[in-house]
Amino acid sequence: MKVAVLSESPADEIALRVLVAAVLPRALEFVAPGFRARGWPHVAQVMPAVIRHLYLNTDTDLLLVVADSDDSVVHTARHEAPEYFHPRCRMCQLRAVHRQTTKRLPPAHGRERLLRAVGIAVPAIEAWYLCGRDDSVSEEAWLSGQRDGRLPYTRSELKFRVYGTDRPSLPHEINCALHEVARHRHDPRRLTNDFPGFAALAADLLAAVKVGGDDRLKAPPASR
Ligand SMILES: [Zn+2]
Repeated sequence: MKVAVLSESPADEIALRVLVAAVLPRALEFVAPGFRARGWPHVAQVMPAVIRHLYLNTDTDLLLVVADSDDSVVHTARHEAPEYFHPRCRMCQLRAVHRQTTKRLPPAHGRERLLRAVGIAVPAIEAWYLCGRDDSVSEEAWLSGQRDGRLPYTRSELKFRVYGTDRPSLPHEINCALHEVARHRHDPRRLTNDFPGFAALAADLLAAVKVGGDDRLKAPPASR
């Protein structure tokens, strides 16, 4: 399955490739280079053009998008109800952008539509990196902090915990990210359990494999 990544930084993309391979340990081909957005709302703004380009001009099967939630509304089980849409939830928003963009596109290159996998890191991707290392960091911890008006940590604290600074250089950011995601490389269950925003991404990927019914997916597992 050919996958293109839309993320907020090259370090995110490198780490996401490892996490995606943990969910789908089969032959995945990544479109290189990936697509970059400068945070929110740029992710949602560039997504329609990225979808149209990938679908009409390439044979990419799936667009994988990951954004930080920052201080927005966290996507919960309630949002999964049919027809539900929360205007301040980034998961709901990005799914809607995909739905609205793809429904106007005709079949192309043997595909009926470009598949999507959307993940929202709550409150930032560094929380995913800390999963399994720092038990105080989870989506539930953030959500209950939002409810009580007492956030358990800030985004820059999370950066400090991962990088030792809140302004890492790109090479340092990549090294730290790869070091942390290595914990999940052979078993992403802790991450899917503690971070529903990652579990949703994983569910999209698994659903895409079913929809695709793609012979290329039957290739032997990629070497680890
Ligand atoms: Zn939502």
